[in-house]
Amino acid sequence: MPELPEVQTVVNSLAKLKNKRIISFKSFHSKIIYNLDHSTFIENVVNKKVDSVKRKGKYILIKLDTGYLVCHLRMTGQLFLSDKLPENRRHMRAYFNLSKDFMIYNDIRKFGGFYYFSSIDEFNLKVGVDPYEKEFTFKWLRNGLKSRSRSIKHLLLDQKFICGLGNIYVDEILWLTKIHPEKKSNKIKMIKNLYENILTVLDNSIKHHGTTIINFTFDNMKTGEFKNELKVYAREGMRCFRCNNKIIRKKIASRSTHYCRKCQK
Ligand SMILES: [Zn+2]
Repeated sequence: MPELPEVQTVVNSLAKLKNKRIISFKSFHSKIIYNLDHSTFIENVVNKKVDSVKRKGKYILIKLDTGYLVCHLRMTGQLFLSDKLPENRRHMRAYFNLSKDFMIYNDIRKFGGFYYFSSIDEFNLKVGVDPYEKEFTFKWLRNGLKSRSRSIKHLLLDQKFICGLGNIYVDEILWLTKIHPEKKSNKIKMIKNLYENILTVLDNSIKHHGTTIINFTFDNMKTGEFKNELKVYAREGMRCFRCNNKIIRKKIASRSTHYCRKCQK
């Protein structure tokens, strides 16, 4: 599933969308618009010009001259620009005609789709703080951890707390900070390290265009290279790079969690 670095990679690849006008929208899957009926969605996005493309958490925010077109890729969504419609349209669920080119949305499993919001405040109610927003400070994280007592893995996955982190990066961040994924958030002492490592792991993954394990491509089928940098995720049974102990995998917060029992206490 695309997480923050993968979505940022997609956003970067959509930079050319700026100043293009949406001429028409066509969809091939009835549930692709989450929050409006099809004709209201079309009324709100067609004939609008793109002002900017940004990201918040795992959402792609396309600011139009009025309102926001928002895309969530969920499990297997792919959003990219192309000068023509693909020959193989088996997984194409929608496209936006941009006059000289197209913005195409493919999705094998059909969980992803679009929203339209007339204001950003309406959207912001849905999600927590993004690690690249100015609200995300060491002090904010310390207060958030101290005032809650859930397991740290569970809390970091909660999109209404921090938006954008998912299973892969939470495992990587906790390994790097030497924190056991089941540790209660209010008992954690290394909050400064945790804060810095959240940004370090995300920065590093964005630099490598995200992690392609399954189903992540951007810019019409390029893939991310962060998988070569993974320290703990998907390394069950292999040796810990720090202490040589075996990496184990256990279900925590209903997610497959990878960690080292020896150096994550
Ligand atoms: Zn270890």
